[in-house]
Amino acid sequence: MPQTPILQFEQVSKRFGATVAVDGVSIEIAPGEFFALLGPSGCGKTTLMRMAAGFERPDEGRVLIDGADATDVPPHRRPVNMMFQSYALFPHMSVADNIAFGLKAAGLARDAIGARVAEMVRLAQLQGLEKRKPHQLSGGQKQRAALARALARGTKLLLLDEPLGALDRKLREETQFELMDIQKRLGAAFVVVTHDQDEAMSMADRIAVMRAGQIEQIGSPVEIYERPRSRYVAEFIGEINIFEGVATSSGDALRLESSEGPIEAHAPLHVANRTAATVAVRPERMRLAPAGEAGANRLAGVVHDFAYRGDHRIFRVRLKSGALARVAAPSALPAPQPGEAVTVAFDPDACVVLDA
Ligand code: ATP
Repeated sequence: MPQTPILQFEQVSKRFGATVAVDGVSIEIAPGEFFALLGPSGCGKTTLMRMAAGFERPDEGRVLIDGADATDVPPHRRPVNMMFQSYALFPHMSVADNIAFGLKAAGLARDAIGARVAEMVRLAQLQGLEKRKPHQLSGGQKQRAALARALARGTKLLLLDEPLGALDRKLREETQFELMDIQKRLGAAFVVVTHDQDEAMSMADRIAVMRAGQIEQIGSPVEIYERPRSRYVAEFIGEINIFEGVATSSGDALRLESSEGPIEAHAPLHVANRTAATVAVRPERMRLAPAGEAGANRLAGVVHDFAYRGDHRIFRVRLKSGALARVAAPSALPAPQPGEAVTVAFDPDACVVLDA
């Protein structure tokens, strides 16, 4: 028997006046899963999260927690904790008192509270900072204190709204690893709201990409990156080259007549003959070859410019139609210079045929 989802949205919709914030969303999140809700500002991520926590009620559909209908259960009765973007630490209380707050409210004995606070301090690596007030902490320490407070009561489901949003780039990366480590050790399901694709890709077991209140695609980071279903997902996650044209297909081979020339792709999707189609290729699946190299998927172009990215460079190559292709090449290789004629080459396997 499949596991009961720890959190389930069943055809959930929410409107604010004329705005449809969430539109018929269904998601099942497994116990112990690290799940990310990803999408641009205003796509409904926070509203979905607030419905899971009980701060908003769906207009339609149901929210189930651990198999039980929670749609009408108030927030404090749900076996769910939430960590807010602002952290919402009590400014006049010490770290230890912040962590203890929910435990006192739940009526735990003093000894039990002390033991649990010590455990959370260790988990969040806040040793020595127990007596400090929030304003005496760094951004990363505040984030960990908020996490410790959210986890103190013990939970199988933690909702985190932009948990790393207030941290600078370097600290964000370190904190991503800490969060993943804490999540694995606790075995609780974490649902993270983020608009940062790198963050979602690094941390999550699965990602739901949202668009205007709906789910555009749900999958593992690899699925979402390697096999985006739509142009929206392809362009939202990382850099990608898009070719449009008219397709002819036979078996799983597709040929696209694009303005750059013919492009051959392996296409597991059935595409009707003589219809408009879109093919996407990631920059790292392309390579720069000498000008005039012959073969399938060899596009003539001229180097426009390039950017150094440490282990690789991103070249922008002006193609026949005037469009710029982005091609990643290892920095160890000699770099063709702007103005130089080159061939952009890629395999049919590197091509993803998009739905829309
Ligand atoms: P962000 O990343 O900016 O936080 P989001 O994806 O979390 O965005 P939501 O906050 O869920 O998006 O908002 C979805 C839509 O619903 C937006 O158009 C927003 O303006 C609207 N909305 C959200 N809450 C309310 C509210 N209480 N009253 C009216 N409209 C709201």
